[in-house]
Amino acid sequence: MEELRNVTSTESSRRTFLRLGAGISAALASGFVNESVLAAVEWPKAFPKGAVVIDANENPLGPSAEAREAVAKAAENGGRYSRWLTEDLVEQFAKQEGLKPEYIRAYPGSSLPLHYSVLAFTSPSRSYVTADPGYEAGMYAAKISGARIVKVPLTKSYAHDVKAMTEVPDAGLLYICTPNNPTGTLTSHSDVEYALKNKPKGAILLLDEAYIHFSNGTPALDFVKADQDIVVLRTFSKIYGMAGLRCGYSIARPDLQEKLANFSGWNAMPVTAVQAASVSLSDPQLVPERKQINVRVRAGVFEWLDSRGYRYIPSETNFFMLETNQPAIEIRKALASHDVFVGRVWPSMPSHLRVTIGTGAEMERFQTAFLEVMNGKTPQAKASQGPSRWIELDGVRIPNNRDFSV
Ligand code: PMP
Repeated sequence: MEELRNVTSTESSRRTFLRLGAGISAALASGFVNESVLAAVEWPKAFPKGAVVIDANENPLGPSAEAREAVAKAAENGGRYSRWLTEDLVEQFAKQEGLKPEYIRAYPGSSLPLHYSVLAFTSPSRSYVTADPGYEAGMYAAKISGARIVKVPLTKSYAHDVKAMTEVPDAGLLYICTPNNPTGTLTSHSDVEYALKNKPKGAILLLDEAYIHFSNGTPALDFVKADQDIVVLRTFSKIYGMAGLRCGYSIARPDLQEKLANFSGWNAMPVTAVQAASVSLSDPQLVPERKQINVRVRAGVFEWLDSRGYRYIPSETNFFMLETNQPAIEIRKALASHDVFVGRVWPSMPSHLRVTIGTGAEMERFQTAFLEVMNGKTPQAKASQGPSRWIELDGVRIPNNRDFSV
């Protein structure tokens, strides 16, 4: 699996900058992308041993101890589909949230239902409306459905501009991610309600709650319960630390779920992921404990940045945007030469870097490297010529992921 990034690989693989594995090139060209693909553009195929990898909003804690045990046990029965385990997981989540099981569908991560929602509800005559800066995956899907992509700038407080988003007359799907990737900022429950009330007739709201557990935001499941035109996405990749295990949901009215299912069919889930997810849901301490850890480490980083006069966007989640006051892409490259791999740069915020909160020790290494780079002690790559429209990967010319016009 060439696209899998291996943090324990050898030094020599560092030299493969800008040479992506065939899997990543293929994913970008196909239109189905997720955070791991987007984070890996411009990275070596695999990371050097001991690198600080804070580029893809992963949870450095990984699955809980109980979830790991559940994975090992589930593997013993890995020869069977055991479809009822997925039904049990759905029922467990439904019970916890006061939803009917038929409103929930499990997928290997929430990237798939995100992709399917765009395919299902946008078309050449129904636009895809998203935030700028926002999570890019849906724009790739919109290229496949042939929909116009409308990027609406965030407000001054980095919330979604729901008024402007709902004013797009031919909108098919409005994508709201709260907390937003990459800014880590919330869009309020009342703004989500406004979007539902004021969106064009026939449009659907796709509400991505991938990072909701880290924040103090109000979830939007009440709108699903009220049978509104909304699909909510949840994933086990973030607070539950299961990005590599793959489990997530779409939560919506059954008729909307059926539209997504036109693309996915009834595929089986990996039993390891399902069992780990179920055990994680059963632990009432897991989310509050992990939220607390993230808050503590994040506060330490912000305090350090404050004490040195560096600016950032205060975040509600496990990543934040850091102001570098120069082309951030160069700082990113310079940090990589310290084996500190931070997140990508968004074209509308070219001097900001997205940094994921790792462990306390990882963030200390990040801080040391950042200081050195900002003090000019690390030679920076030549000044950027600005984003190119295409990048050449393994001899294949693919669209640059920074190239989406309104
Ligand atoms: N939504 C957002 C905003 C994300 O950042 C991600 C990936 N990190 C996802 C959805 C989907 O993640 P996954 O497929 O791992 O569940």
